[in-house]
Amino acid sequence: MARTFWVGGNWKMNGSVAAIKDLTAQFNAGSVPSDVEVVIGAPYVYVPLLADSLRKDWAVAGENCYVKASGAFTGEISPEMLKDVGAKWVILGHSERRSILKESDEFIAEKVVKAIEAGLKVALCVGELLEEREAGVTQAVVNRQLDAVVKAVKEEDWANIVIAYEPVWAIGTGKVATPDQAQEVHAAIREYLKSAVSAKVAEETRIAYGGSVNAKNCKDAAQKPDVDGFLVGGASLKPEFLDIVNATN
Ligand code: PEP
Repeated sequence: MARTFWVGGNWKMNGSVAAIKDLTAQFNAGSVPSDVEVVIGAPYVYVPLLADSLRKDWAVAGENCYVKASGAFTGEISPEMLKDVGAKWVILGHSERRSILKESDEFIAEKVVKAIEAGLKVALCVGELLEEREAGVTQAVVNRQLDAVVKAVKEEDWANIVIAYEPVWAIGTGKVATPDQAQEVHAAIREYLKSAVSAKVAEETRIAYGGSVNAKNCKDAAQKPDVDGFLVGGASLKPEFLDIVNATN
């Protein structure tokens, strides 16, 4: 089965009403292949504006959510609320939430379950720190992060998950993983899924690469057999993002 190429943008804590109107006008005018799935993640408060302004062949994501539908959880946002204001996706397990907000593998896995139950699709981020790569434990770290999700979700739920392999040392640093480094980890993730879940899930789950992807470096990585797309931070705030959407052209 051919996997549909997937490109996600992660705006992080960036944006303003004016900037979003300007950027979406440029995205909406861009020419993009019809066989690439595109998703843009925005801060909660801008999700409705983005959902209104963005071209309808692209989808909107929240960048996080909580594990309850509603209630006394001051400051939290439920997956149901994200869906209510127009999001179709949510980014979960981003390294900034794992490291700065101290989110555990198990908490992230619980969010994945609740988001899917609420009808959202999930971009699930995993990836190792520089010292973990240097210590040769990249795969062990990624497998540990995935283990929690494998334990929590049903096999059929994997159809609603895109894995974003994002080595932490490559995020926002300009230090992109080489296409071979990305391919090596993606292939190992696919092997892991085969043994931990099923051959079908291993074959069908999209594995995107994230970490300093830009218009210049995306084309070579897109050629790798297990690189099924990208999760893009900085460059998704610029018209350059359109070139990344066109990486397979
Ligand atoms: C990210 O935030 O998910 C990311 C990959 O950022 P950048 O592309 O800026 O490295």
